[in-house]
Amino acid sequence: MIVYFNDRFMPKEDVRISPDDRGFVFGDGVYEVVRAYEGRLFRMESHLRRMARSLRELRIRGPDLDQIEDVAQELLRRNELEHGDAKLYVQITRGVAPRRHTFPDPATPPTVYATASPFQPYHEQWERGVKITLMPDIRWARCDIKAVALLPNLLASQQAKERGAYEAVFVRDGAITEGSHTNFCAVFGGELVTYPKCHYILAGIMREVVLELCAELGIPVRESPVLEGELRDADELMVTGTTSEVMPVVQVDGWTVGDGKPGPVTRKLQRAFRELTQG
Ligand code: PLP
Repeated sequence: MIVYFNDRFMPKEDVRISPDDRGFVFGDGVYEVVRAYEGRLFRMESHLRRMARSLRELRIRGPDLDQIEDVAQELLRRNELEHGDAKLYVQITRGVAPRRHTFPDPATPPTVYATASPFQPYHEQWERGVKITLMPDIRWARCDIKAVALLPNLLASQQAKERGAYEAVFVRDGAITEGSHTNFCAVFGGELVTYPKCHYILAGIMREVVLELCAELGIPVRESPVLEGELRDADELMVTGTTSEVMPVVQVDGWTVGDGKPGPVTRKLQRAFRELTQG
């Protein structure tokens, strides 16, 4: 596998990352995951814009992000991933410096690492729907930053796996915020409701795409919190993300959503999204 590491393409096994890298020591870095469909990177500009914002919010002096799109295309090419399904991973950390909580010298170069790898689509889950499990949102109050420090998400994700669920979905102050690696939407009487964009959720690229598709398809949208107590009144639930796409939710812990099958709004969004990625 050929990867990109600090300005160079190289075999993955040749990458050497310092134990003093702040990504290793503190989780002091940001990342993005981008899907490629038949060699086309989906919404790359939006991912790079979000990455620039994450870097800015953490005051990390990143590299020139304009170059990342070329790097990504080159990674797809060098790894023979220009056809079929692939995903790109990009990570930038605050670089290598002696362990100290305060920031290193501003001249410290960031560590930049990127890979492209094959992606196995979730065809069966998209078709049948998945189970989610609810969990208290114990994360910090800057979930809008796509930081590599993901401990609460990892704990939640593992617990979801142990409960036989596809995703852990967080509840904060009685409201559903988002999943451990997805955003969350509910449909009530034909209206799609999702948590508003703020520091308690990541502004998902797929969330944005879903809202755009709703506008095109004439599906009304309300960006406001769904309370845990309202969930059972929802006609449809879904989680969305770059790799999850539009994932129907048919079970929440011990109970079934509607008739246990993905609903019509979810299906419409899935079809419209498929057209986007095939276009
Ligand atoms: N929320 C969290 C916490 C995530 O980690 C992710 C993606 O990894 C998402 C939402 C979905 O974001 P996107 O649609 O950009 O993949």
